[in-house]
Amino acid sequence: MPASIVWFRNDLRLADNPALIAGLGSGRPVIPVFVLDEETPGIRRHGAASRWWLHHSLRALDASLRLLGSRLILRRGAAEHVIGELARECDASAVYWSRAYDPGTRNRDARIKQTFEKRGIAADGLKANLLFEPWEVKTSSGGPYRVFSAFWRACRTMRAPAAPLPAPRTLPAPGLWPSSDDLAAWRLLPTAPDWAGGLGATWTPGEAAAITRLADFLDDALVHYRQGRDVPSTKATSRLSPHLAFGEISPRQIWRAAATRGHSAPSEKFLAELGWREFGYGLLFQSDDLAQRNFRPEFDGFPWLDGDEALEAWRQGRTGYPIVDAGMRELWTTGWMHNRVRMITASFLTKDLLIDWRIGERWFWDTLVDADPASNPMNWQWVAGCGADAAPYFRIFNPTLQGEKFDPNGDYVRRWVPELASLPAETIHRPWAADQAIPPEIYPAPIIDHAAARQRALQALRRVKGTG
Ligand code: FAD
Repeated sequence: MPASIVWFRNDLRLADNPALIAGLGSGRPVIPVFVLDEETPGIRRHGAASRWWLHHSLRALDASLRLLGSRLILRRGAAEHVIGELARECDASAVYWSRAYDPGTRNRDARIKQTFEKRGIAADGLKANLLFEPWEVKTSSGGPYRVFSAFWRACRTMRAPAAPLPAPRTLPAPGLWPSSDDLAAWRLLPTAPDWAGGLGATWTPGEAAAITRLADFLDDALVHYRQGRDVPSTKATSRLSPHLAFGEISPRQIWRAAATRGHSAPSEKFLAELGWREFGYGLLFQSDDLAQRNFRPEFDGFPWLDGDEALEAWRQGRTGYPIVDAGMRELWTTGWMHNRVRMITASFLTKDLLIDWRIGERWFWDTLVDADPASNPMNWQWVAGCGADAAPYFRIFNPTLQGEKFDPNGDYVRRWVPELASLPAETIHRPWAADQAIPPEIYPAPIIDHAAARQRALQALRRVKGTG
């Protein structure tokens, strides 16, 4: 009997998965497959931390499918070829998947759809990972929004997202399963050295963990979200970002669960953060290369500096600015960094050190477990000043004042920069002013003077803006 292929990609979940429901609705055996496509040009390969997450998430998905009498087939190679072959092997009459929005994937998917349709096979990409499709949210002149507040106001006047779909209770299996790769043979996990201990201690990838995390957040932290979300030493935010990046939970599930807690100020603020994610996907959809091309072309001639030593100090968390170093070490250890500190560390790289935002974006792409093709470049461009609705060019974070404001007791710094743990709150963000001097081999002096760096950045930015 012909089968339906359900091609899992950035939607590693059973609940609220329209492609899975379409496969089930076909009444034929369902073959769930994941393709590791590292060959198609124009599609970004996972970074190292994301590969770690992907390994565990695929294992979790396979286990959940087995409880339904099914399993996950793994194949590797250019998806156009691999899915075509699989469809032949199992005499598929339909292929379903969840839509992606980056140009490389969109072009590949369009080619696949065309080829299948020529072969008389139904092929459809479905909306699964956004609340609103980029083409649904338009300005009065029919174009995309470039300012977040107007975008989000427009979203809030649209019909509320539909209720999430339930997970299937069973999946019809084929008489004979096609062959599958062995997950371990993909070598997604780091080995020599295995640097992923901190990731394993911090996260549980998979749909079940995503659902628990959402419930815990809504029960314990949502009420404090507005006041707490900028304080990196507390667990005041949802930490759902990696689960969302891999589609282990859908924004529609989050929206529904938060909205049913009532339209309180905290849940509005939280939903607006999901709105930023939607805004990013709108930009990804409009841009031909959001991770490479300045959204504002006047930045194309920006005088970025080469700063190998400074870059290395930033990556390792040894800049001499405690809040920057704490953030970079949190990132390295756990694969995640608090949003406020992401802004501070990105501002430090692009404005204090004048290092190209694309270099920072690539480092985050490689080290974040939530590395996202829309949110990462959008936020980097936002901080650097070259993005849509970007921070005003003259806003240059002072890392010392930011530390004192958002980590007033120094708890976050003490956790990630233990060599400063003995300093009192008054000097923990300015160790150079502490009574008890810290030897430079223990903790470095600032690699750059912020006041001078700020003037240098303002000069360069004014030139780009044509005001200096
Ligand atoms: P919560 O505060 O609980 O927010 C809920 C969800 O809303 C998040 O999970 C996320 O999906 C979304 N969200 C929140 N803030 C933003 C934002 N500023 N932009 C887009 N979506 C947002 N987020 C990523 O998911 N992947 C990235 O690769 C990424 N790179 C970033 C790089 C820089 C330089 C900066 C400044 C921010 C980046 N962000 C990225 C956005 C933000 O920092 C994270 O989404 C957030 O810290 C995740 O934590 P949370 O799930 O606890 O967020």
